Amino acid sequence: MAIDFEIPAEAKALRERVRKWVQDECVPAEKRLLDGADYKTVLGELRKKARAQGLWCPFIPKEHGGMGLGPLANALVQMELGESYLGALSMNTQGPDDATMLTLLEHGTPHQKEKFLKPLLNGEKRICYSMTEKAAGADATGMQTRAEKRGNDRYVLNGEKWFSSAASVADIALVMAKTDPDAPRHQQYSTFLVELPNPGYKIKRNIPTMALEGPLSHILGGGHAEIEITDLEVPAENLLGGEGRGFAMGQHRLAYGRLRHGMHNVAMAQRALDMATKHVTTRSTFGKKLDERQAVQFMLADCASELYIARLMLMHIAYKAENKLDLRQENGIAKVFLANMVHKVVDTAIQLHGALGYSRDLPLAAWYTHIRSQRLVDGPDEVHRWTTGRNVIKAYKATGTTAGACGGDLL
Ligand SMILES: Cc1cc2nc3c(=O)[nH]c(=O)nc-3n(C[C@H](O)[C@H](O)[C@H](O)COP(=O)(O)OP(=O)(O)OC[C@H]3O[C@@H](n4cnc5c(N)ncnc54)[C@H](O)[C@@H]3O)c2cc1C
Repeated sequence: MAIDFEIPAEAKALRERVRKWVQDECVPAEKRLLDGADYKTVLGELRKKARAQGLWCPFIPKEHGGMGLGPLANALVQMELGESYLGALSMNTQGPDDATMLTLLEHGTPHQKEKFLKPLLNGEKRICYSMTEKAAGADATGMQTRAEKRGNDRYVLNGEKWFSSAASVADIALVMAKTDPDAPRHQQYSTFLVELPNPGYKIKRNIPTMALEGPLSHILGGGHAEIEITDLEVPAENLLGGEGRGFAMGQHRLAYGRLRHGMHNVAMAQRALDMATKHVTTRSTFGKKLDERQAVQFMLADCASELYIARLMLMHIAYKAENKLDLRQENGIAKVFLANMVHKVVDTAIQLHGALGYSRDLPLAAWYTHIRSQRLVDGPDEVHRWTTGRNVIKAYKATGTTAGACGGDLL
């Protein structure tokens, strides 16, 4: 099926509203925070204003208080939100909460929806996701944390987790643990809703990372926690989606998260390229404006190509999602491309700003240190490329051409 590039007028108008929202409200609010304003106050004011305008939880169905957007309109909105660190937060569509909201919507019992999902959708609570362990990350089937059923009414969990983003600011944790070591590999794990703080879920520390900390760090999720799980008691009614379904639900959650990161990257890369272009139009070296140098124009051109491809990829994937077509191959390709794209564009922007780009007077240095993680999270580059490559071979063996694994159905 060929791609349809037509964007409905309603989605275009919404994109404009969100762009204006980010530029008129979120970007100035970032400045207020940098000037020392209290983040809870600033975020609270932003959220109240956003919600009053109907800009809230974009992809959550209307009956649950969201905007009820489909994949295409949501992609357009997310691409705008990534321009400011406060964009997604202001509309309560920040990670890791957003994908978890989807998991609860799809798999939660009525009790779980009332108790755990409702306050998330209202922006009253935050949730984190504890899957990765020191023992296992890219291959999540190596997780060692155990959950043992005691009687009919509870489970007891023991083990460890690390790199649980936002755990230190979360009110709820979604924890994966092994319930049946004898089941097939992908059916050994279950997911539990854990209320925080909890003595059985001990945050040992926020792991220091290469990402530059700043006044915005607290808002952005409170770091990445290392956690000790000791005799953590979880009521049986907090088991999400049934025993042995943890792994399948985790994959569902990650599939959405991968796209969202990439969408935000487009906005960040665009802002970096705009900054770089503004800079080269005013800066002179060796008697000439930088923007008159062909070498500089080539650098801008390369960034433009990356951004163009990124936008087309996301539009194509959104189109496939709208039409309920299989998008797994495109999703894996785009996840890797978008993480590397933002890396290249921000790096070029730093280069063109010279020492100013390396300084912390601009946001570029902080962005650079934060986005490095994107080539690791939600599956490292190599794991996606491994799957993508296998699909290329499969397509060739099945059809005599690799086209089906390289967007060939676009034609
Ligand atoms: C900033 C940040 C936030 C995170 N947030 C969360 C979170 O909220 N919740 C959570 O549960 N986890 C989170 N993670 C963990 C993240 O999902 C894992 O780091 C990721 O899955 C990789 O696992 P690992 O670090 O154990 O690396 P490993 O699995 O040890 O892999 C190490 C490296 O080996 C290579 N590799 C691995 N497998 C293959 C293969 N098959 N072929 C070729 N090369 C391979 C890759 O280069 C990979 O980077 C976060 C990580 C970071 C950095």
